[in-house]
Amino acid sequence: HAKQQGRGASLVFRPGMNEAIEKRRALEADLDLAIARGEFELYLQPRVNAVTADVVAYEALLRWNHPQRGLVSPGEFIPVAEASGQIVALGEWVIAEACRLSHGLEGRRISVNVSPLQFRASRFLVRLGEMLKETGTQASQIELEITESVLIDDDKRALQVLDELKRMGFDVALDDFGTGYSSLSYLSRYPFDTIKIDRSFVSNLGVVDSAQVIVRSIIALGNGLGMQIVAEGVETIEEALFLTQAGCDELQGYLLGRPVPVGDRLTEVRPAIGMQLKGMAEAAHRG
Ligand code: C2E
Ligand code: MG
Ligand code: MG
Ligand code: MG
Repeated sequence: HAKQQGRGASLVFRPGMNEAIEKRRALEADLDLAIARGEFELYLQPRVNAVTADVVAYEALLRWNHPQRGLVSPGEFIPVAEASGQIVALGEWVIAEACRLSHGLEGRRISVNVSPLQFRASRFLVRLGEMLKETGTQASQIELEITESVLIDDDKRALQVLDELKRMGFDVALDDFGTGYSSLSYLSRYPFDTIKIDRSFVSNLGVVDSAQVIVRSIIALGNGLGMQIVAEGVETIEEALFLTQAGCDELQGYLLGRPVPVGDRLTEVRPAIGMQLKGMAEAAHRG
């Protein structure tokens, strides 16, 4: 009986597994056509100066308007594209589009996420150079965001690519800092311009006692090494005020502005927040 039950259970389980595989295959097939069909779109989220609340840059975030499924989130399709290799072509579309958009941002920079596979692709540097030329974009307008997972695999090659990116004039940011293996040695070994403190630390600020100490330490360390510090996922005024006081350079998050389609009023930051940040900064300056 037990054997029969076991068989029954596995039979019940199987359709679900097949469904997941089928869904993945379908996504993969759809991804192949999606670029040509113009189903992708970049949304822009403002990064603001933590003292003045001026918008200083935008992060480009990929959105897929799927004809049947509606808006599919990058959390769902980026891993599929990364596993299949499709991320290389898709990532190139993102960078080319960001280059084109950069001309309409009144001198503000645009930051672009680069996936590990894309970063390691042999044509990455060559294609970057070509895209700058094709779109008439200065590398200094673009910041490339990479995560630690890029660095773990192949230390030497990663360093070569990063050095070449710097030589070409790009800024490079370490995204989601504090989440992966986060070894502090990365910060001195690789030429990062910017550290983005992961949202999980920011959302813990008012909740977990140690979060304030950790965030202060990351800011001190990054600033000490001459890097810009950006806090991700800032949702409350309390978080913003803490980060500003702690010496964070830029804030990004729903409080300052959600990712919006290009063409929406991009530079609008809720004025009250700007006033509060300015007031804090001035008080700190006087004191
Ligand atoms: P990320 O690069 O760390 O981007 C930040 C994510 O946090 C974005 O999610 C953004 O919408 C979200 N976010 C921003 N502010 C807040 C906030 O205040 N609260 C909360 N709860 N969330 C906030 P999104 O757009 O869904 O993207 C998720 C991830 O997908 C990105 O994380 C990035 O790793 C990846 N991704 C997005 N676009 C691209 C792309 O063009 N290429 C690659 N390779 N990856 C991308
Ligand atoms: Mg990012
Ligand atoms: Mg991030
Ligand atoms: Mg994050």
